Amino acid sequence: MEFDTIAAISTPMGEGAIAIVRLSGDEAIAIADKIFKSPNNKSLLEVPTHTIHYGHIVDPKSKEVAEEVMISVMKGPRTFTREDVVEINCHGGLVSVNRVLQLVLNGGARLAEPGEFTKRAFLNGRIDLSQAEAVMDLIRAKTDRAMNVALGQMEGRLSKLIATLRQEILETVAHIEVNIDYPEYDDVEEMTHRILVEKATYIKGELERLLQTSQQGKILREGLSTVIIGRPNVGKSSLLNSLVQENKAIVTDIPGTTRDVIEEYVNVRGVPLRLVDTAGIRETEDIVERIGVERSREVLKKADLILLVLNSAEEFTEEDKQLFAATSGMDVIVIANKTDLPQKIDLDEVRDFASNRTIVTTSLLEEKGIDDLEQAIADMFFQGQIEAGDMTYVSNSRHIALLHQALQAIEDVLNGIDFGTPIDIIQIDLTRTWELLGEIIGDTVEESLINQLFSQFCLGK
Ligand code: GDP
Ligand code: ZN
Repeated sequence: MEFDTIAAISTPMGEGAIAIVRLSGDEAIAIADKIFKSPNNKSLLEVPTHTIHYGHIVDPKSKEVAEEVMISVMKGPRTFTREDVVEINCHGGLVSVNRVLQLVLNGGARLAEPGEFTKRAFLNGRIDLSQAEAVMDLIRAKTDRAMNVALGQMEGRLSKLIATLRQEILETVAHIEVNIDYPEYDDVEEMTHRILVEKATYIKGELERLLQTSQQGKILREGLSTVIIGRPNVGKSSLLNSLVQENKAIVTDIPGTTRDVIEEYVNVRGVPLRLVDTAGIRETEDIVERIGVERSREVLKKADLILLVLNSAEEFTEEDKQLFAATSGMDVIVIANKTDLPQKIDLDEVRDFASNRTIVTTSLLEEKGIDDLEQAIADMFFQGQIEAGDMTYVSNSRHIALLHQALQAIEDVLNGIDFGTPIDIIQIDLTRTWELLGEIIGDTVEESLINQLFSQFCLGK
């Protein structure tokens, strides 16, 4: 394929000491060479591929030195886009990196559209669509685990799995066709049904298994929506503060997210917690008082995790019991706080109320028990065993929707067999399953969808 040469700043705006201007395309090396001056006057056009060179960026018109740089020269096809790629590493701030970009654009490159580097990698056949989407997830990943999921997907783990399933379906379709074309055996109908049931059941199982991972995958991507509740003065703010202080707060820069409730992200042992309505806790101390009973019920319902704080230096009150009632059926971790004071709460009574929920005792004042709480959160999420790196998670909502549709189609196949539907009709549903799975890896997607997907990327990726 033929593309012009594109360029963009490919490091986050204003962050970090090093900023990279990336170029991709046939002219990438020539354009960089025009503005590069090395101490021994070497030409970038003559250097071996995949090498790094020290020198200065010089404005070819004014001869002014713009920046001290390291330049990586990588010739296609062994590059991210499969095209010639040049990366100019600048250590100056935003101003100088923008100057370098401007010189590159003056030299004949075009400013890349958001996601255009990744789009080229896709169009040049370097990666498939689910891998391209993983690049996007990677940029937004909030924890190491979320990063691992995206990395696994980028390496093509999901793609391989999908490809295997599609292959199975294709073989089944072929098998059926052979049977239809050569019905020389008496039991051909029965045999066809048997194979179909076997294969369709297997595929259904695999799709269900993948969909089961989607909840965790989603949480890894978006954070476990967490609400802290409890009577006034039990220690909610203290808990919020210790979670935020102990764990690196995660910066959120997801474009296009509107936030009507104030949120804070923290990373607890790889589980990203999205602490919802922290303003309610910080300001009025009472979520119910601040947003009303109805809305707080809604907030609670939407929460993935509720941290219910009790004061163990006081009796277990009616109000505490009401909070248990309001959160029945939800994932709750009970925190009996203030263990440093004389204890008045009857923990056995709490245990009865909590049924089989985890109860953690803490003294937030003396910073005790916070480890136990964090472990309880991690256990609840990972059941203490699953590591994100070990398995394929589905985390992308487009993939999840397609998997649901594919599951429906394969269920139609199985129902069809049950109802004695003619084989050639059943085949339509089988083929449909194959097509839907193909959309996940971009085999059967339309151009408009591709453009829309890539436009969601950050500039320079
Ligand atoms: P909230 O009203 O539930 O948000 O409770 P706060 O976090 O504002 O805490 C209320 C009071 O209890 C503050 O004076 C805290 O310093 C104190 N407090 C919080 N945790 C503990 C604890 O573990 N032990 C003791 N002794 N005091 C605590
Ligand atoms: Zn408070």
